[in-house]
Amino acid sequence: MAFSVRVRQIAAPFGAAPGQTILDAAFAAGHDYPCGCQSGNCGACKSHLLAGEVEMSPYSDYALTAEERAAGQILACRAVPWSDVEVAWLESDEVASHAQRRLACRVLSIEPLTHDISRLRLGIESGGPFTFSAGQYASLAFDGLPPRDYSMASQPDEDTLEFHIRTLPGGAVSAHVRERLRPGDMVRLDGPRGISFLREKHTGPILAFAGGSGLAPIKSIVERALTLGARQPIRLYFGVRDERDLYLEGHFRALEGRHGNFRFTPVLSEPSGDTARRTGFLADIIRSDIGEVDGARAYLAGPPVMVETCMAALAERGLGRERCHADAFYTEAERAGAGR
Ligand SMILES: Cc1cc2nc3c(=O)[nH]c(=O)nc-3n(C[C@H](O)[C@H](O)[C@H](O)COP(=O)(O)OP(=O)(O)OC[C@H]3O[C@@H](n4cnc5c(N)ncnc54)[C@H](O)[C@@H]3O)c2cc1C
Repeated sequence: MAFSVRVRQIAAPFGAAPGQTILDAAFAAGHDYPCGCQSGNCGACKSHLLAGEVEMSPYSDYALTAEERAAGQILACRAVPWSDVEVAWLESDEVASHAQRRLACRVLSIEPLTHDISRLRLGIESGGPFTFSAGQYASLAFDGLPPRDYSMASQPDEDTLEFHIRTLPGGAVSAHVRERLRPGDMVRLDGPRGISFLREKHTGPILAFAGGSGLAPIKSIVERALTLGARQPIRLYFGVRDERDLYLEGHFRALEGRHGNFRFTPVLSEPSGDTARRTGFLADIIRSDIGEVDGARAYLAGPPVMVETCMAALAERGLGRERCHADAFYTEAERAGAGR
């Protein structure tokens, strides 16, 4: 039996088929719903359950804490109605409302940034115009391979889209990008997606933390803020394992030179030799470097463990989750195992 779903922000109720999540039912009925990973990991579809009952399939504590669940919040991507329900998604302070597009793109260039990260540049052939907010991501589909999410490293108003893609051992898509993708190849892009985007009206300090190819969305965010003339302090910590994993250092040093309010700090977690650089995990750096967080917002992107430990360290400093905007780069296998 189908149940009725009423969403406060959507004019008319719609039906959810047996076993269908609220998010899937909303999409099937042709509605937008704020969402990110769609697998219970990110919390972007967090909603108030105002009436009725749902069954929640497994999700991570990071996406929805026990306190939030006890207070009646759910994840729309995990919640299957057991009765007619009424929900309201959590209103974000600022929204990124861009038309969802399916683009045909052509590879303009593909080049190594490090031993395992490639810079991919795409030109839009059809399906545009494509607008997004700095920090958002898109789903890319290469040559019959399953789609994967990658974050835009470029600016929203640039003609060329830039992505930083890290090759994972045994990774179906990232290995293809590194080894077989060539200029001229076609790529399908769906998006934009995600709620970890630059809050352009925010005038307080910006704390940015990137791990590995997590630099992509953070680069877009930091550059967008600087382009808009942001005057507040902007600190970017870039965490990698060793010297060979650093990239775009010259680029960010040049930005430091041009903007007195911007500071860039590379951090090595496993330096293979003596180094004059900061060392350790980004969470430890937060504990040692970050004092005053009044009015600050944090942006984080990279491996899930990095994002989660940094969010915990920021919470210790008094920066709550509502002021932290994060994209954890879960792989499909990690998504499938969420919360289990
Ligand atoms: C919001 C978001 C944004 C992202 N942005 C970026 C970005 O900007 N740059 C970037 O580099 N990445 C990004 N990612 C990660 C990206 O989407 C892919 O997950 C990543 O590139 C790996 O894809 P793949 O097909 O190469 O690997 P997959 O084939 O998915 O495999 C990933 C890893 O899991 C292993 N594996 C595969 N199947 C299994 C299994 N059944 N059990 C156990 N292990 C398995 C593989 O050996 C490999 O090591 C983002 C992810 C998200 C969610």
